[in-house]
Amino acid sequence: MSFTLHGIAVSSGIAIGHAHLVSHTSLEVAHYILPRQFIDEEIARFDAALQATRKEFSSLRGNRPAHAAAEFDAFLELHQMILDDPLLSAAPREMIASEHCNAEWALKVQTETLVAQFEEFEDPYLRERQTDVKQVAERLLKRLIGHPGHQPPTRHDIETILVAHDLSPADLIQFKPHQYAAFITDVGGATSHTAIVARGLNTPCVVGLHNARELVLEDDLLILDGEQGVLIVNPDKSILAEYKLRQSAWELERKKLKRLRTARASTLDGSIIELHANIEKPGDIAEVKENGATGIGLFRSEFLFLNRDELPDEEEQFEAYRAAAAGMEGQPVVIRTFDLGADKQIKGVERVANNPALGLRAIRLCLAEPVLFRTQLRALLRATNYGNIKILIPMLSGVSELNQTLLFIEATKYSLDIDGIPYKRDVEIGGMIEIPAAALSIEVFAKKLDFLSIGTNDLIQYTLAIDRTDEEVAHLYDPLHPAVLHLLSHVIGISNKLGVPISVCGEMAGELAYTRLLLGFGLRQLSMFSAQVPSVKQRVLTTSLPEIAAITQKILRADDPLKIRDLLGRLNA
Ligand code: PEP
Ligand code: MG
Repeated sequence: MSFTLHGIAVSSGIAIGHAHLVSHTSLEVAHYILPRQFIDEEIARFDAALQATRKEFSSLRGNRPAHAAAEFDAFLELHQMILDDPLLSAAPREMIASEHCNAEWALKVQTETLVAQFEEFEDPYLRERQTDVKQVAERLLKRLIGHPGHQPPTRHDIETILVAHDLSPADLIQFKPHQYAAFITDVGGATSHTAIVARGLNTPCVVGLHNARELVLEDDLLILDGEQGVLIVNPDKSILAEYKLRQSAWELERKKLKRLRTARASTLDGSIIELHANIEKPGDIAEVKENGATGIGLFRSEFLFLNRDELPDEEEQFEAYRAAAAGMEGQPVVIRTFDLGADKQIKGVERVANNPALGLRAIRLCLAEPVLFRTQLRALLRATNYGNIKILIPMLSGVSELNQTLLFIEATKYSLDIDGIPYKRDVEIGGMIEIPAAALSIEVFAKKLDFLSIGTNDLIQYTLAIDRTDEEVAHLYDPLHPAVLHLLSHVIGISNKLGVPISVCGEMAGELAYTRLLLGFGLRQLSMFSAQVPSVKQRVLTTSLPEIAAITQKILRADDPLKIRDLLGRLNA
């Protein structure tokens, strides 16, 4: 049966492929009762998963990276002990036998019981060990249910569209080595980190499809239109033929745009606009160059370390930052310090907050975890010797926090001085403007920092009180809300007046509809996902700054949403 679903388009392109349904281990554990004759088989399945996980640990120990911290072995030993403890290895077997439930369910219930017991410990060290229990149980669970990472689809990735209820940014980053045709999820918003990673992968993606995961069957033929946010399930022949044509036209257009790679992004009246790229890993640099970006405007460093069981040490981080700096050969590389928390959790420093987007996230989390922060800053400072690195601090909200951060950086420099380790003493420090409070007190940030970068994804989220990951309120997420436009124009105007370089690195920077508007506000530097650089460059090349000035001011004065959209249409005509 053919049917169509509508969601939120987050990464453009047209994909045609077969569905592969994936589940997220921690979210979806089925519970079912087995007929008596299958109980032994179920216990054997649990034992096999246990055995496979044991083997995984042994091989991890055998392949211990040469530079791994000494704690690595101790950490693995602890996890092996937890795995072999009868509370985890035997109790679920007993539950399968007595309650006739499936192995995943038995493991989930037993893990929850253990975690609750650890929670009762007064000693913070012992209480913290619940994280290890969860990590070991998760590893085992992945073995049982077949995590996407372990269960590649049978057909070629390129013909496969992954269908999930939800995908975390960490899940998606794992798919990077594969070349899936597209991703679709039931939940999520256009500027969620999952959407951002999909764009970075240059893979069509539609989120917020509500119940696609239930309605689509494994191997169904799908067409995904990442521009319109439409999913067509089991299309008829004529629709399929039409979309094949559209797909070829779209690919041809992208090829043509790539010819602009070496052209300078200059407006018709001769102003140079810097077009930089957002990356998640040094490995993304090849694509940055292919698309002609002239710098990295945002390196989301936290993505380096998702999907890991141990925290990265200074040496490993240093190597990653050095590789990025060297790869860009003197062009600017803005590395953001960890923006962890909310939808990006790293094992070992997960926090459970009532309201994660407003909780201990980004710089707040770093200041609360001084060892984590100092390790990253030391690695970053050391890497400044190898290229044009600038350090960017996310989610600053006020002056005391800013002062505390700057002091922390000074103290870290001092620790390197004591160790006799060289670094670029005058490395530029910038701040992200993504909280309305910071936007409204922009002068103080401009005076104390070397450069600024507006994170529109969060600035819009916090200004309009809309969770960027929640598809239920996605229709209210509006970059053209007058309050947002005023904040943008204010921040850009004051920074220009004070002579402090300012850029936009949120998703607005890569949306063609907003290029001229932002230029009209006075912006001269934008950072976006690499694949979008050629299209934005083309828009810049056809823009005359004097011509757009009046209409931009009109947009700023308008308060009726329809009028604003109408004016924007004229600006882009
Ligand atoms: C932003 O908030 O706009 C931004 C660039 O940072 P992130 O999307 O990683 O929160
Ligand atoms: Mg942000």
